[in-house]
Amino acid sequence: MRAAVLTTPNTPITFIDDHPEPTVDEGEELIDVTACGVCHSDLHVADGEVPSPMPLIMGHEVTGVHAELGPVMVYAPWGCRTCEQCDAGLEMLCPDAAEAGIFADGGYAERMKVPDRRYLASLGDLDPVSAAPLACGGLTAYRAVGHGIDDLRSVSASGKQARAVVIGAGGLGQFGIRYLRLLTDAHITAVDLSPDKQATARDIGAHEAVGPDADIEPADVIIDFLGAEATLTLAAQKVRRRGRVVVVGLYGGRIPWGFGAVPHEARLQSSVWGSRSQLDELLDLAHREDITQAVEALPLDQAQTAHDRLRSGDLKGRLVLTT
Ligand SMILES: [Zn+2]
Ligand SMILES: [Zn+2]
Repeated sequence: MRAAVLTTPNTPITFIDDHPEPTVDEGEELIDVTACGVCHSDLHVADGEVPSPMPLIMGHEVTGVHAELGPVMVYAPWGCRTCEQCDAGLEMLCPDAAEAGIFADGGYAERMKVPDRRYLASLGDLDPVSAAPLACGGLTAYRAVGHGIDDLRSVSASGKQARAVVIGAGGLGQFGIRYLRLLTDAHITAVDLSPDKQATARDIGAHEAVGPDADIEPADVIIDFLGAEATLTLAAQKVRRRGRVVVVGLYGGRIPWGFGAVPHEARLQSSVWGSRSQLDELLDLAHREDITQAVEALPLDQAQTAHDRLRSGDLKGRLVLTT
């Protein structure tokens, strides 16, 4: 089969015409890959920042076709399927996870082995190319927003104006703005340095979009899609008492926490990818509402070009490799 393979970190991805087919044992599944989104985490794998096994077929935003199930999306945070987190359906929190495309071969190939049928979500009639980024980018933002939904709805139910702030209006932040707009009555403020991204944020539903120095009102829920020290500091300053800050971005910022450092009873939490049931919820939402973003499709043999473009920021939408 055709496959794009990373043989060693920090070397170009090699396109191979006659890569061996995956071997599938009892209980495992095989899909024909249709499309695979290219995500920032793939760059971390390519850079050797993740202890991935090599050689590796990357790619964790995968749509394809299964012989019996038809069109599917792969749930990529594969866990051990035996621990407490996996039992609770939270495989993305499994301490022994082997995520597709990161610790096991993924979707930069014509075919892909999936270790269990539970990881195949029905795609229905969604477009497999534009839907592919929902598997990681879309799902990650969905879980992050999900942490704050009940908070926002209960403020609205009390007759007050609920307020949500999204920090970072890039790909994930844009998903977050759409979900907040569709699922809550909250006033949504987007914070981003870029005037272009501020304009996009307004186009897709933010009530206001401002730079980081703007004087914004305190919020019930703040979702930080960057996670830098400056953005976490802003979130801790702008969250209301009993409000919630959700950090998704992996910039690795650190802020002080404790009495006096954050408002009373404010809750600070991280959010990781999404659960298997949340993927079904998200695909259900995608059938009802237009939540996909613009994508640019490139053929599989241009996987390295896709990585170079993502790294340079030379993008008009999410990049998706197609077979
Ligand atoms: Zn587990
Ligand atoms: Zn990803």
